[in-house]
Amino acid sequence: MISSSNIRVRFAPSPTGYVHIGSLRTALYNYLFAKKQGGEYLLRLEDTDKKRFVSGATENLLSVLETMGLLHSEGPFISQQLTVNSLPESPRETLRAGQQQTIESVKYPGIVEVGDYGPYIQSERLELYRKYAQELIDSKKAYYCFCSPERLDAMRKEQMTNKQMPKYDRLCCQLSSEEIQKNLDAKLPDTTIRFKLPDNETVWFTDMVRGEVSFNTASMADAVLLKSDGYPTYHLAMAVDDHFMRISHVIRSEEWLPSLPLHVLLYRAFGWDAPQFAHLPLIINADKSKLSKRQGDVAVEDYLKKGYLKEALINFVAMLGWNPGEGSMQELFSMDELIEKFDFEHVHKAGAVFDMKKLDWINAQYIKRLSVDELYEKSLPFWQEKDFYKAAKPEQQSEEYLKKVLFIERDRLNRLDAVGESNAFFFIDTLEYDKELLRWKKNTDDEIITALTKAQEVLTALDEQDWTQDNLSEKLMAAAGEKRGDLLWPLRVALTGAKQSPSPFEVAFVLGKIESLKRIGKALSK
Ligand code: GLU
Repeated sequence: MISSSNIRVRFAPSPTGYVHIGSLRTALYNYLFAKKQGGEYLLRLEDTDKKRFVSGATENLLSVLETMGLLHSEGPFISQQLTVNSLPESPRETLRAGQQQTIESVKYPGIVEVGDYGPYIQSERLELYRKYAQELIDSKKAYYCFCSPERLDAMRKEQMTNKQMPKYDRLCCQLSSEEIQKNLDAKLPDTTIRFKLPDNETVWFTDMVRGEVSFNTASMADAVLLKSDGYPTYHLAMAVDDHFMRISHVIRSEEWLPSLPLHVLLYRAFGWDAPQFAHLPLIINADKSKLSKRQGDVAVEDYLKKGYLKEALINFVAMLGWNPGEGSMQELFSMDELIEKFDFEHVHKAGAVFDMKKLDWINAQYIKRLSVDELYEKSLPFWQEKDFYKAAKPEQQSEEYLKKVLFIERDRLNRLDAVGESNAFFFIDTLEYDKELLRWKKNTDDEIITALTKAQEVLTALDEQDWTQDNLSEKLMAAAGEKRGDLLWPLRVALTGAKQSPSPFEVAFVLGKIESLKRIGKALSK
């Protein structure tokens, strides 16, 4: 049994330029698991694929994680060997400085405060991976491969033609030590280090989500560990890092399950204890296809930009693959509740369907819980984007006015980017509508005029300081009597110009006395 203080997990993204919803879930499950057990949640940037380098990706990743409240922590640094050569470019410079100091707060300059520690960055630990690749060479568990990409390609094609499984044919495994030395001395450009798998061996492993999994090495290829550019492959870097970072549990997406055998064997080759593994179900669309960028938004940033609240996103993402257990109907969870309730027993194997309607519903619930002040703060940037808002009179752009609109809209809002959208009449000076819209059922023009005049009298008689929703409702209902629609319908249309809208009491309350009377006057003149 691992004591709680030994629980150490890591979120290990490759910075791609945006944070996929699936990555957010991986980060979250790691975070919840660590926090629940009083363990450590670490961040490691897996940036050893130079071809995939995206400028600004790291900054973006750190910023999103910080926004989502998933801040990494750091235990004591493991080994002095892990501090590696300097790279010239900033802001890495600053991060590395932070790593070495370990106690001081690190700032990613001008971008984001990362918490107390910088993340581990693989491209800064290359010496470590090289050292351990060499160790496997020395112990004959790995070998140099000098094959050119052209030869590997031709080999693969031939295997495919012969209906064989494509895998490295181990040509270089047979080289004599003299031949190897000669090739190394010649500094052949395609030199890599490959792992030598045991032949035809069945290995068993228990995954925390999938249960018992077994695999046979006969169907696996000798994977490259160190590439010709001197960078490690993902497999070597992750095994070495997880060992030296003392990672107790590797929680990652199911797409890495096929690599699990290799990782388990790598651990064995190094003579290290393997961590426990948990492979999280894929996130899929309703049609069971993989959630991908082509079908719509997959980036957390996109959802934030559309006005999904971070609490709602966390809540939603937590439920993508986990539930609180049978008998629990709870659907809304704060971060603290998630930390308390999360467990791997209730993480399922089947793909988790990304249900946009569910996300909207959850978001609406979180919006409802906001105070008008909070909602105002959060929604202001969205208002400022709206054309009807930009064109409105200054008094209708005021904080006070927006708060009144938000008070009315709060219970109907799914997303912050929808603020004002269905109630743009609050901001439009001259309403355009067909006067027929003022007609309730088969009422005559005279009846409409009488109703609007009555409403005009009631509102004129109400003092500005008594202009509350309750008073408006009470006085107008009294004036309307039995046949409410006769008065309330034309009044509502006069105030909004719309077929559908909130009630005339709510609308009049927001518009205020002067504007309401002005709009009724205009309706009468139609
Ligand atoms: N860099 C890998 C990814 O972005 C991490 C896999 C792992 O967690 O081991 O998917």
